[in-house]
Amino acid sequence: MNVLVTGGAGYIGSLTTLCLMQAGLNPVLLDNFSNSQPQVLDCLEQLAGRRPVCVTGDVRDLALLEQTLVEHSIDAVIHFAGLKAVGESVRQPLAYYDNNVQGSLVLLEAMRRQGVRTLVFSSSATVYAEASEMPLREDARLGPSSPYGRSKWMVEQMLQDLARSEPGWSLTALRYFNPVGAHPSGTIGEDPRGVPNNLMPYIAQVAVGRREALHVFGNDYPTPDGTGVRDYIHVQDLARGHLLACQQGHGRDGFHVYNLGRGQGLSVLEMLKAFELACGRELPFVIEPRRSGDLAAYWADASRAEDELGWKAELGVDAMCADSWRWQASHPMGYST
Ligand code: NAD
Ligand code: UDP
Repeated sequence: MNVLVTGGAGYIGSLTTLCLMQAGLNPVLLDNFSNSQPQVLDCLEQLAGRRPVCVTGDVRDLALLEQTLVEHSIDAVIHFAGLKAVGESVRQPLAYYDNNVQGSLVLLEAMRRQGVRTLVFSSSATVYAEASEMPLREDARLGPSSPYGRSKWMVEQMLQDLARSEPGWSLTALRYFNPVGAHPSGTIGEDPRGVPNNLMPYIAQVAVGRREALHVFGNDYPTPDGTGVRDYIHVQDLARGHLLACQQGHGRDGFHVYNLGRGQGLSVLEMLKAFELACGRELPFVIEPRRSGDLAAYWADASRAEDELGWKAELGVDAMCADSWRWQASHPMGYST
């Protein structure tokens, strides 16, 4: 099976590419390297024993996409390419609608023209509305609170409309909860540009000495220790979810949506403690006011993915922290070290 992986050089895309290669599939990457490094291709070659084909280009380039689909006889697409920082999306909404919505539109048009009908799309738990009942099921009320979340919701709606419009389309949206961790070898991991927005890479950079202390955003939430609770999922589990969605989606008509999470919440302080165990020392933290737009607690009901895809998260918080630390300790400055 030849699979086009847009955004395949990024954090989740690269580890999914490796998972596809190890399962005997043939991934073809397309990335503009706006948030990734070409060195990841060397790492993939080292781990998989062969180098994946990589097309350097933009997902909004219709001619390039059509050419890539034809040249590589693509059977299915996994679409990761896009921008992902919630705060930035509030400041630069047009960049998000352009990359995420327009990018998906162009990709779908290229697929329609070239008769490629299977797509797996990176959606997000941010599509759910606030104050929904926990755990979040796929049929919970939707209503994202940022341009980033709305861009994901818009694409889900496009996929739903397209699947309704004619038979033959197999379109799957995977709503990720909080992906963390790295490849267990420490060779591939998350390499955020600038100050990390997310908890796990920030903790990892404190552990490696790049940042002084973790800023804990709020300890007065209605949660057991007052800090925010999220459903963290190991990126290796997530990668396997894409493999299954791609293999099982192929030939199965319609629009399908799945939560990918562990179904368990973990607080900021619990995550910090788990990381301390992994790196073997205490990590400094300071309590700060709540971060605007943050919710107290949410986690997934991932039973639909288990029932229909046969997918269940296997790796726990110990593996998430150990693998993340192995990556950070061996690459203190990310891919540039
Ligand atoms: P990432 O930034 O590491 O990877 C995205 C990749 O897409 C990068 O390599 C980037 O260079 C590329 N890219 C961006 N715009 C492009 C364009 N217009 N054309 C071609 N390539 C482009 O991000 P990630 O964490 O691997 O996330 C992958 C996807 O998963 C994104 O769509 C993101 O919104 C979604 N997602 C991520 C998280 C998370 O916490 N990491 C959670 C939910 C959903
Ligand atoms: N968080 C924190 N300090 C940080 C980054 C995040 O306390 O430097 C908290 C944040 O308030 C939330 C949790 O960690 O409760 C997860 O945040 P993250 O940005 O990783 O993911 P989100 O769920 O917001 O997408």
